[in-house]
Amino acid sequence: MSKRDFYEVLGIDKNANEQEIKKAYRKLAMKYHPDRNPDDPQAEEKFKEASLAYEVLSDAQKRSAYDRMGHAAFENGMGGGGGFGGGNFHDIFGDLFGGGRAGGFGDMFGDMFGGGRSSRRRRGADLRYVVELSLEEAVNGVKKEITFTAPAPCETCNGKGTKNPEDVVTCTTCGGHGVVRMQQGFFAVQQTCPHCGGSGKQIKNPCGDCHGSGVKDKSRTLEVTIPAGVDNGDRVRLSGEGEAIQGGESGDLYVEIRVKEHDKFVRNGADLHLDVPISFADAALGREVEVPTLDGRINLRIPEGTQSHKIFRIKGKGITPVRESMKGDLLCRVIVETPTNLSSEQKDLLRQLQGSLGEHNQSDKKKSFFDKLKDDVKDLFD
Ligand SMILES: [Zn+2]
Ligand SMILES: [Zn+2]
Repeated sequence: MSKRDFYEVLGIDKNANEQEIKKAYRKLAMKYHPDRNPDDPQAEEKFKEASLAYEVLSDAQKRSAYDRMGHAAFENGMGGGGGFGGGNFHDIFGDLFGGGRAGGFGDMFGDMFGGGRSSRRRRGADLRYVVELSLEEAVNGVKKEITFTAPAPCETCNGKGTKNPEDVVTCTTCGGHGVVRMQQGFFAVQQTCPHCGGSGKQIKNPCGDCHGSGVKDKSRTLEVTIPAGVDNGDRVRLSGEGEAIQGGESGDLYVEIRVKEHDKFVRNGADLHLDVPISFADAALGREVEVPTLDGRINLRIPEGTQSHKIFRIKGKGITPVRESMKGDLLCRVIVETPTNLSSEQKDLLRQLQGSLGEHNQSDKKKSFFDKLKDDVKDLFD
């Protein structure tokens, strides 16, 4: 199968946001789901293709690698965080509909379409961890150590729920199937077995430490590599670091980015905004001022006669967002400050200046404001 562009596969724009990607994938998945198209290898291929595209584009890190390197990003085992390769739709649906917990929508989906194909794999819940970054860390990328408590396999019983393997027996309620059928009116509905929670197993002598659940809350410390250019709400997925469950695979951990407010810069996508206070004399006469950037100070030329709130754009001194390759700009907004605490001598000088300022010294804006005012007043008396 030759590889189509992932954006093309999902029929979305390169700038599509998380919601749009989800929506596009959900539509395709509903259409091509193997349980809806039994024995249709073409539909199955399409489903796998869409699932792969979704898995990459829904993960900030993988998407950024894909945007930079295309399919090559995942062909030699580099850059993707590894561990994917097609159509694990239980996983994806769990994520899509929130939770991913056994017995949640992921399982219902399988049941709805007969459950034949989608193996009833149980999976722990996805977890979310919010990490706060400074603007500099978000822009340059950073490694962060995070510590959190989550259900992990019980060490006493190795996650088996009992120390003796012979104590694990087939669940008598569901006969090991993990599901039970219930008659509701005309319909037979399949449900996760309430007795064994879907594992199909029962434990005779449960482990004392985890009471047979096979999992125990445990504090974990992980190092997270956060790519350069992330912004508020971006997420880094750590596969398999979510909730552990007995007899199933662990959920994922999503590390969500929150960027702290900066004392000088405000970020807007790829651009940075900065207020530059200058004196009214500098604004009138013009001057070169030093302004900070994220990588050192640079000079900004304020031309003679600059009005307050004028914005000067310094190209290429912004940010390269994680999913883009172009660097944004630094937008410097000049704020003209009115002098305060004047001495009487300074006041005299200003009065002299005031007297000498004529109509030709006014800005166009001020001129038109007063002209309009005159016209308005004239209208009143006409
Ligand atoms: Zn245990
Ligand atoms: Zn059971």
